[in-house]
Amino acid sequence: MKNFKIANIPGDGIGKEVVPAAANVLKAIAAIHGGLRFEFTEFPWSCEYYMEHGKMMPEDGLEIIKDYNAIFLGAVGNIELVPDHISLWGLLIKFRREFEQVINYRPAKVLPGVKSKIVNPKDFDLIVVRENSEGEYSEVGGRIFRGEDEIAIQNSIFSRRGTERVMRFAFELAAKRKKHVTSATKSNGIFHSMPFWDEVFKDVSRDYSTIETDSQHIDALAAFFVTNPERFDVIVASNLFGDVLSDLGAAIMGSVGVAPAANINVNGKYPSMFEPVHGSAPDIIGKNIANPIGQIWTAKLMLDHFGEEELGSLLLDVIENTTNKGILTPDIGGKHTTSEVTEEIIEGLKARF
Ligand code: ATP
Ligand code: MG
Repeated sequence: MKNFKIANIPGDGIGKEVVPAAANVLKAIAAIHGGLRFEFTEFPWSCEYYMEHGKMMPEDGLEIIKDYNAIFLGAVGNIELVPDHISLWGLLIKFRREFEQVINYRPAKVLPGVKSKIVNPKDFDLIVVRENSEGEYSEVGGRIFRGEDEIAIQNSIFSRRGTERVMRFAFELAAKRKKHVTSATKSNGIFHSMPFWDEVFKDVSRDYSTIETDSQHIDALAAFFVTNPERFDVIVASNLFGDVLSDLGAAIMGSVGVAPAANINVNGKYPSMFEPVHGSAPDIIGKNIANPIGQIWTAKLMLDHFGEEELGSLLLDVIENTTNKGILTPDIGGKHTTSEVTEEIIEGLKARF
């Protein structure tokens, strides 16, 4: 019997609705599979927790969950109670940094039955792999005065180790898919970091002779997302470019409510964190209309991470059958509830075993 220990953190807002929904889907998978078990422990760390304790999690919070196989997080944020920079830095960003989750990846695909504004939505099926620890989002730089003028200087940090690491991750993912990696660059405009990025990409690609590669400037690449999505399988990008591309990907999917994401620790020392793209969605709390698909698809990424890729594929297949049948929450044009969509996915799984 395989046993996976999962730290559930529903967090704020609709996180409290979609995390239990997705956990029920995983429990159903375990019950019908028979050979594996998910051991969930729930932690109430959130903005409400902050109101009571003056912090987002206990002092020894990291210590408490460092030996779990994964963190399954809903959403963090309630600006009525706690300013965003305090809630995010107190929980999410702390996990990312302390647990060395240096890679963020987000599959983006237009699900059947969901409307998208792009020309060929059927061809839109890709993964954005984003470097999540260095690059453009650095604290190096400052402000200087030159005569009357004030100047801000922002340095980007690209280490060979960090760049290689994210690229290798992208190649490994592509090897399990359509075997194509696109590098997002801008070496025609950025003088030091992007030529280095291109050089490392060439070096790493030599180790993966069966994978096709190309390099696209970020501006053209973003346009191709909309006009020629069939060009893409896995896209590897720096912190800033990856941030922009993955939000574009979620927008093309039709609703942020369906978009999954993972924050990966690659050295195996700490748990990875699985959290969908959407936030706490304060405008729809308590109405049973939050789309659970983003969280459930995120659970699929967690299954993949556990090495249960067959189960992961099966789950995505069942999600697609559900949307294709028109079982949709309002954000993607339907009239169904969170519970109905979740129940349909669970029934779909039962039928497939
Ligand atoms: P955060 O700062 O936490 O990311 P936000 O307000 O920027 O919060 P979301 O919380 O994702 O972003 O909400 C953006 C919009 O998308 C809201 O109108 C919200 O209702 C909607 N939304 C987000 N998640 C879902 C979901 N799972 N199902 C349906 N609608 C959603
Ligand atoms: Mg936001």
